Amino acid sequence: MNTQTLKASPKKKPGKTKKPLAPERIAAILDALAKTYPNVVCALNHRSAWELTVATILSAQCTDARVNLVTPTLFKTYPTPKAMAEASLPELEELIRTTGFFRNKAKSIQGAARAVVEHFGNQVPQTMDELLQLPGVARKTANVVLGSWYEIAVGVVVDTHVLRLSRRLELTKNTTPEKVEQDLMKIIPQDRWIAFSHELIHHGRQVCIARNPRCADCSLETLCNSADKTWTSHPRSSPLKA
Ligand code: SF4
Repeated sequence: MNTQTLKASPKKKPGKTKKPLAPERIAAILDALAKTYPNVVCALNHRSAWELTVATILSAQCTDARVNLVTPTLFKTYPTPKAMAEASLPELEELIRTTGFFRNKAKSIQGAARAVVEHFGNQVPQTMDELLQLPGVARKTANVVLGSWYEIAVGVVVDTHVLRLSRRLELTKNTTPEKVEQDLMKIIPQDRWIAFSHELIHHGRQVCIARNPRCADCSLETLCNSADKTWTSHPRSSPLKA
């Protein structure tokens, strides 16, 4: 969408969507996201389920770009779960220092490495229950690994972007990742769970930015009635807003 052609339009306060979970509205949101972000993939560089598990643990409270700077040296130094399981903890900490919370993260990735070696035959497991047994792995990381590597849709990845945008789009009123995930799993078809997360994460990074969303450039704009909007084309006229 061309921002310049929209600049002259008035900035009016949007209202609330009367039926935010109406199937036709959900379908329209999914359709717009798929068209805007075709073939979108995980932004964390990885070559295996193990590397994706480690990268996702490191991405907590850190940008994917920063993680991608750290992981090449990390995986060159410790190329296998066994090598990382046997690593010196201070050396491991030093390699991941710039991702923040490096002491806890070093313990987590070494603990996960040891669990993978000792209990799962050097392979990252493929079920939610087993993944949750790895230190440092909660549902978000497990969903990332299952969805992006194994292509198994067990749940929806809810990171900070998915949580924030799901609330802006009135797909949930909840505030915890666990509850937001449950809400999304009820309204999003299972065959869209994996792509939906990737699309929403990209949208949150590029367009629906936390403090200053670029609503005039947003492909979901006609479907969105968020109070956070910085521009609106449809104060009272959206066909999907009663
Ligand atoms: S219209 Fe604005 S607030 Fe709504 S999803 Fe798009 S960028 Fe976000």
